[in-house]
Amino acid sequence: MPVSKRKRKSKYSTSSPLSRKKPTIANAYPNDGNFLEQTTWKGCKTCIDGCNSSCTCQLDGKHCGPSCACPPDCAHRIHLSCSCRGPCGKACRCLKGGYACEKERCACGCAPLHLRPFPGHEVKESGLLGAGQGYYATEPIRKGTVFGLFEGSVVRHNGETDYNLFDLAEGYSLRCKHEGTYYINEKRHKDANAAFQYIEGPRRREVVAIATKNIQAGEEVFAQYTATDHAPCFLTTPLVGEYVLADANGEPWLGQVTKVYPRKREILVDWLLRKQDLHHLPNEVATTLDLEPGEVIKTRWWSDSFGMDYVIQTVLIGNQQPEGGLSNNSWWWGGKVFNACNWEIENKANEKGTKDDGNCSFM
Ligand SMILES: [Zn+2]
Ligand SMILES: [Zn+2]
Ligand SMILES: [Zn+2]
Ligand SMILES: [Zn+2]
Ligand SMILES: [Zn+2]
Repeated sequence: MPVSKRKRKSKYSTSSPLSRKKPTIANAYPNDGNFLEQTTWKGCKTCIDGCNSSCTCQLDGKHCGPSCACPPDCAHRIHLSCSCRGPCGKACRCLKGGYACEKERCACGCAPLHLRPFPGHEVKESGLLGAGQGYYATEPIRKGTVFGLFEGSVVRHNGETDYNLFDLAEGYSLRCKHEGTYYINEKRHKDANAAFQYIEGPRRREVVAIATKNIQAGEEVFAQYTATDHAPCFLTTPLVGEYVLADANGEPWLGQVTKVYPRKREILVDWLLRKQDLHHLPNEVATTLDLEPGEVIKTRWWSDSFGMDYVIQTVLIGNQQPEGGLSNNSWWWGGKVFNACNWEIENKANEKGTKDDGNCSFM
């Protein structure tokens, strides 16, 4: 399927169209907590003399918060506070309410999120087959602790599929820097040891990672990239036409789904070959092909069915044709892998010269 025809699927996308609800008299702040239905990702900036009818928080149907410019006694401000001793954990009222602690009211003395020293971590090859790099704790993290946040720049959605975006508000996403929490790989919420949460901070709406279990030093961290009541981003039940990275006897292989058997929880795929797999083709064909790393070709009539549990993640494949006249051949066609292995293949394929020094086990 051409990538351009796919719906944009950034982290935290919802399946229903995001629509703004009109405030009612009964509830003047209907969008508190409905982060993706708000259009602002930081508080009102022009309300220095107090909030009036042009206040962006009011227009958005939400309370004022730590990043607002209005005076602390603004009637629209939410006043959460906590009496946590030491770092705030799962019992913290501020954290639960989705607001960063404020020095003036909280006993915890927590530093602003973006200035906070977080527990140590390291990025190295993931234990999840085919997932590329992973995020590991280097010191114990207690359940309920905020241990990291996503850095990056806030951008307008451009409608394109982009797995580097994390939804922040209606029409706005965080373009995540490739550092720290970015390397947390996805597992379903019940199997994960962390979760992502929005917190209204003094800088802007932040996306933080919170431990949902006690994490030991040396343990890899996993979280689900969609809200827990949504299907995971990358581990969804594949649909016909989609591409999957699957664990084929301990080796990651790419396939295009041609059939789904929901009751048996099995799928049928046509396999795709990488440069190093070309020897599986008839010799006279294989020698005429010259694939770049990142490019794959699809076989025809080479299919297997297997349980969905073997699917590592769904993968985007562009419809560019590798050079060499493949389009004239009725047996296969080519494509370029976009997002397998923690979405690094695309970069590797584009940055000629650096493509061999990554840790991505798929390539
Ligand atoms: Zn305001
Ligand atoms: Zn405000
Ligand atoms: Zn205000
Ligand atoms: Zn607290
Ligand atoms: Zn607090």
